[in-house]
Parts: sequence; C-alpha cells; structure tokens
Amino acid sequence: MLNVNETTYDVPADVVDAIGKEVRLAAVQLNRYPDREFSVLREKLAEYLNRDLVSESEPATLTAENIWAANGSNEIMQHILQAFAGPGRSVLSFPPTYSMYPLYARGTYSEYIAGTRAADFTQSPADVAAQIREHRPNVVILCSPNNPTGTALSLETVEAAYAAAEESDTMVVVDEAYGEFRQSGTGSALALLPGRERLIVSRTMSKAFALAGGRLGYLAAAPEVTDAMRLVRLPYHLSAVTQATAIAALDHSATLMANVERIKDQRDRIVRTLEQMGLRPAPSDANFVFFGGLTDEKAAWQHLLEDGILVRDVGIPGHLRVTAGTEAETSDFLASLQRFITSATA
Ligand SMILES: *Cc1c(COP(=O)(O)O)cnc(C)c1O
Repeated sequence: MLNVNETTYDVPADVVDAIGKEVRLAAVQLNRYPDREFSVLREKLAEYLNRDLVSESEPATLTAENIWAANGSNEIMQHILQAFAGPGRSVLSFPPTYSMYPLYARGTYSEYIAGTRAADFTQSPADVAAQIREHRPNVVILCSPNNPTGTALSLETVEAAYAAAEESDTMVVVDEAYGEFRQSGTGSALALLPGRERLIVSRTMSKAFALAGGRLGYLAAAPEVTDAMRLVRLPYHLSAVTQATAIAALDHSATLMANVERIKDQRDRIVRTLEQMGLRPAPSDANFVFFGGLTDEKAAWQHLLEDGILVRDVGIPGHLRVTAGTEAETSDFLASLQRFITSATA
C-alpha cells in the first residue's frame, strides 16, 4: 500500500514496548479524567520542535505555551477554523492540495475559496500574496510540502503570504505534516514564528513518527493562538491513552527519525529512477513522489495494482503519486512501472 503516505515500516519493537509501558501506567488512572492541559505532552512537543529549529541554527524559543495538540491534524485544523473562520468567514487554499481543506471549511460552515497555482503546481511569493490581497480571507492554508505534489514552499513565499495577510488580519496556517522529510536546505516555517502572532505551523505524528493510528496532531503558534484553541475544544479532548502513546513515541524520536532518513533515501531514489525512465517527478520534500509524463495514468495505476502495488491517482491527467516505502517496496514499484513503460512503448 503506497497510496496514503503512511510510514510503511512497522513501529520499531522498542517503541512498541515503551508505548505499552506508558499506556499501562495511564491505565491505572483511567478512572480519572485526563490532564486537560496535557502539560507533559506539550513540553515534550516544544522540546522536539526546538531540536528541529536548533538543527537550522535558529534560536530554540518554543515553550509549552506555544503548543496545542488534538486528535490528528484533522482536529487541529477543525479547531483553527472553529476559532478563526466559521459562518460569514472564509478560508483560502490552493488546489491541487490536501483534499480535506474544503471539507474542514464545510464542516465549520466557512466559505471555501479555491486559489490557483502555476501550471507546474508551484507557488511564487508574488502570486500567493496577490491572491491573499484579492480575497482577504479570514484564514489561508499553505501546505508545505504540498500534498499531492510533494514540493515545499520557500520561506520567502511564507513571509510574503504573511505580509499580505497582515493587511486583512488573516490567520496564516502552514500545514507541515511532512516537515521531517524536507530536503536539507529547505526551511521550516517554525523559524518564522517569532514576532508573527498570526502564523500557525501545523505538524502531525501520523507520518514521520509512524503513528497514524495514534491520532496526534499539534501546532506551534503564539500563546494567544493556543488560548483561542481552549475556547473551541471539547472538554478532555485528548484521552490519557493518546497522551501516553504520544509521550512514549516522542521519547523515542531518535529511533523513529532513523526510519525517516531511510525513507528519504528511497524517495530520492524514486525521483532519480523516474527521471531515467523519461517521466517527470516533481521535486519532493515529502515521503511521496508526484510524477507526470504518463500517457495513460489510469492504465499505469491498473498495471501496478495487478502487481499488488496500490498508488494514488490524484485525478490530474498524466500524473500519479506514490509513497516512498521500504527499499524492497520501492524496488517492486520501480520494476513494475518500468515493465509498464516498456510494454506501452513496445
Ligand atoms: C496526512 C496529512 C495530514 C495528517 O492528518 P492527521 O489527521 O494528523 O493524520 C495532514 N495534512 C496533510 C497535508 C496530510 O497529507
């Protein structure tokens, strides 16, 4: 299954053990409501993000006050739109992008505005800023790296978006669900947080932490933003079991990030090999690769499926999206696609 950008490695055994121990401890107190402020988890998330910032030689400035968490970034986005969008208010994002954004808008009775991208699906600072100035939305969602195209935004683009957004009091959300997979040299919008109180960076443990089933998304922003989240969350929205699971995984982030490096290697291998096949992969900062150059993407998708490989047809003619899996999964995918290309041109 290379279609929904999960980590295809199982959770490593020592992390499974640690989660088991932490959840067992939590079980003793399950007669009580959980810590509604999830203080330990917020501290650990701040520490984790600060390490990310330090690796970019930026000052490590985040504290628990900057962090909010919820049941997946799905709920994070819902909280953001409940607080800052809603009836009579609008949300702008830039398709092709994460297909859930219009649904979050609909679910909060917000107006959804579909912005546009360049023909190669990239976004320039000037174009993003112009569209924000034109629509003056209450919330703009930037997805970096973008799903399904895989390419990250330059920090100049985020800065330009923010400067335009300030003129209309627009909240700027950067969805960095795949942030850990970015190429060295690609910056995180976390570095832009100081002094920008309308900027929100959303992250998740679903991808890099191999914890899609654990349901833990989080954001970093000004303390005033996390305070606004307290107004819209349901009481005790993060269960004690969820908190325990996430804390144990964060304590083992080094083990989990080793798999991230392996996946990045396979991602880069996919891009190189697809280029050699004469296809057109987009530059990827994610754990998946979006590629064009197919004359019949539906036939390619079907051919891969018959070889037992499920990839994503994202509805863009000539293109498919594939998740970077283990080395063996990647080899199977590349071999199957090569057979398809050979038979199609034979
Ligand atoms: C996978 C993904 C998420 C993750 O959502 P969760 O609810 O945290 O599992 C968020 N944003 C994008 C763009 C994604 O592709």
